[in-house]
Amino acid sequence: MESSFAGWPGGFRAALSLTFDDARPSQLDNGLPVFAEFGVKVTFYVSSAGVAARRDEWLDVVRDGHEIGNHTLNHPCSGNFVFSRNVALEDYTLARMQDEITGADRFIDDQLGLRPKTFAYPCGQTFVGRGRACRSYVPLVAERFLAGRGYRGESANDPEFCDLSRLDAAGCDNSSADDLVRLIDSARSAGAWLILCGHEIGNSDDRLNTDPAALRRALEYALHDTDIWIAPVAEVASHVRCERTGDTGREAHVQDW
Ligand SMILES: [Zn+2]
Repeated sequence: MESSFAGWPGGFRAALSLTFDDARPSQLDNGLPVFAEFGVKVTFYVSSAGVAARRDEWLDVVRDGHEIGNHTLNHPCSGNFVFSRNVALEDYTLARMQDEITGADRFIDDQLGLRPKTFAYPCGQTFVGRGRACRSYVPLVAERFLAGRGYRGESANDPEFCDLSRLDAAGCDNSSADDLVRLIDSARSAGAWLILCGHEIGNSDDRLNTDPAALRRALEYALHDTDIWIAPVAEVASHVRCERTGDTGREAHVQDW
């Protein structure tokens, strides 16, 4: 049965989630002031090292109502990234990936006292193993989380069709204000859910850096010039799941959320 989507809350035309990965210090130093200025809540897919280094401040982030998501314990990506050679997805099994996910859940519960509702695939990659033994680990994520976020996708998510376990996200690192406004506009005209993904904020020494001025301009535009709902991934995913009819069989197993 085809699903149909009842619409965004409060008459909004589209949805926008801002997400930042790896618990990098610049997110606390340069990102939080921007989010506070606009009163928006975002999603942080954290690394254990990042949280451990500044735990008290991450506890404040939780208290402020931002979402904390699971991003695995050791951040396995393709070994083609030199930084991942020791935790290369090509060498992983589904059991080892399950341990990564469970380990990060446990770490976040222990350090921040919560159970993450959503997940971000490190480097946006969704496989383990290689060749004929290669497997998708999307089903593990679907089993455990309300939503799973990818990376560097080319489109916003259609609330009627999208797979909540493998959502597309556009990178906002190294984007100009105009780039971001264009993405927002196209999501708005499609009535879609745009997810942006960044890493550093206001740290131009890093190759993955979101410019706070571009972020400000995009937020200003989204909040004042359009009718877009800005909310963390778990909140939007939860709305999509509830407002999608004819979809109960497909997602009945995450009823707990
Ligand atoms: Zn990451």
